[in-house]
Amino acid sequence: MSAETQHPFTTVIGLEVHVQLQTQTKLFCGCITKFGSPPNTQVCPTCLGLPGSLPVMNRRAFDLSLRAALALNCKIALFTKWDRKNYFYPDLPKGYQISQFDLPFSYEGHLEVCDPKGAFNPRTVRITRVHLEEDAGKSMHDETAGTADSRIDLNRTGTPLCEIVTEPDLRSAEEARAWLNELKLLLVYLGVSDCNMQEGSLRVDANVNLHVPQEDGRIAKTPIVEIKNMNSFRSVERALIYETERQWGEWQATGAEIGSMPKQTRGWDDSAGITRGQRHKEESSDYRYFPEPDLVPVTVTEEQVNEIRSAMGEPPSVLRKTLADRWKIPANDAGVLVNQGPDLVQYFEDLASRVGEGKVASNWMQQDVLRTLNERGGSITDFHVRPEAVADIIARVQKGDFDTSRGREIFASVVEKGTSVAEVVAGMGIAAVDDGDLRALCEELIAENPKIVADVKGGKEQAAGGLIGKAKRKNPNVNPAKVRALAIELIQALP
Ligand code: ZN
Ligand code: MN
Repeated sequence: MSAETQHPFTTVIGLEVHVQLQTQTKLFCGCITKFGSPPNTQVCPTCLGLPGSLPVMNRRAFDLSLRAALALNCKIALFTKWDRKNYFYPDLPKGYQISQFDLPFSYEGHLEVCDPKGAFNPRTVRITRVHLEEDAGKSMHDETAGTADSRIDLNRTGTPLCEIVTEPDLRSAEEARAWLNELKLLLVYLGVSDCNMQEGSLRVDANVNLHVPQEDGRIAKTPIVEIKNMNSFRSVERALIYETERQWGEWQATGAEIGSMPKQTRGWDDSAGITRGQRHKEESSDYRYFPEPDLVPVTVTEEQVNEIRSAMGEPPSVLRKTLADRWKIPANDAGVLVNQGPDLVQYFEDLASRVGEGKVASNWMQQDVLRTLNERGGSITDFHVRPEAVADIIARVQKGDFDTSRGREIFASVVEKGTSVAEVVAGMGIAAVDDGDLRALCEELIAENPKIVADVKGGKEQAAGGLIGKAKRKNPNVNPAKVRALAIELIQALP
């Protein structure tokens, strides 16, 4: 259920997302962008903003952001330039950020909210603009020892960021989260960003207010609040739910409308589960934007755009369809696989091509591989049971060595022990039951179960199912389908 059906108002949400582009080096200098190095070891005169240093644009960063913009269905500006955004902050050594103001390199795109469970109507979220800019450094505050200790790490300064701004088209917290999931998936599939939120490669700010219909037909709008400091998509959802309720309470108490106060910024406190007022937001005139004199404008040709477009790869929205067609699997299966990311899709395709049957491979992915990953944590790339091992188990099931449920036990054991399928099979004492043994076992069952025999003989073939559990107790390695078929055959042959 979404907020719009519960409340006498509409929640209106727009997002601003910053993603770190997957480049080796920074946007305007050759410093590396590796995460987690000792503070201030990845800096040079340019990203420190020392006098006399000059920025040079990283073309790879520009091409990656073009790819993102094209995937977001944006129009591409063939002429774009850089601007200085001036503000004072300790983690910004130059005193300005190189960004794009009035001529962003792309604008007017869109991306649909995707929800495989069908909880939302497919809503198109318009993208206002996508632009490129450099990141600031990081302030670290340590107030534990009683002495307020603040340090600055400038490793991040100058890291290329792609800023994606949406129109206020989202209507609930859940929908915002679903849209962010789709955006992240898209950027990961296209190799634009790893979107790792823990490492700060993806940051989200949300703008939210309420539209409240009045008795006279007018729509009253509450003041827009910008929420910051959300460290996961779950936090984004929680913060938006909280802020919706807070604004509704404030509206009922004060009736304050948009324009009656400057735009407010509130920080999300994840452990307290609340937003706190931080400051009143600067207007864009406060930043005194002006064109960056040290960088030339960037021009792009139609050919360059087409080249990037043709090398782009399939976005998730397309891959969901092509994967379903290629492996003849249901749309829902394809959706689940694609939503796990490109590495898992690659694992699945490897498995499916070894097995030769997409649906069988997909079932094993969903019921065994994914469940195991969920339980154990970790990513598919680190998962020690590779597709060839799973394919080996499936091949043995298909050959009749053992049934699927026995195959599952073997899979679990391979996961647990980290040994090969052959070793587990040998260790469990599993050997293919030969035809002579199977026949002897069926004859034994027939002798011991006259009631079932009479039922089958009387035309109730399904009664033979009663023999399978008994057969497995005698020999856990028997194949149920084979027991069933042979038992029926023997019973029918009885005088
Ligand atoms: Zn540098
Ligand atoms: Mn920005």
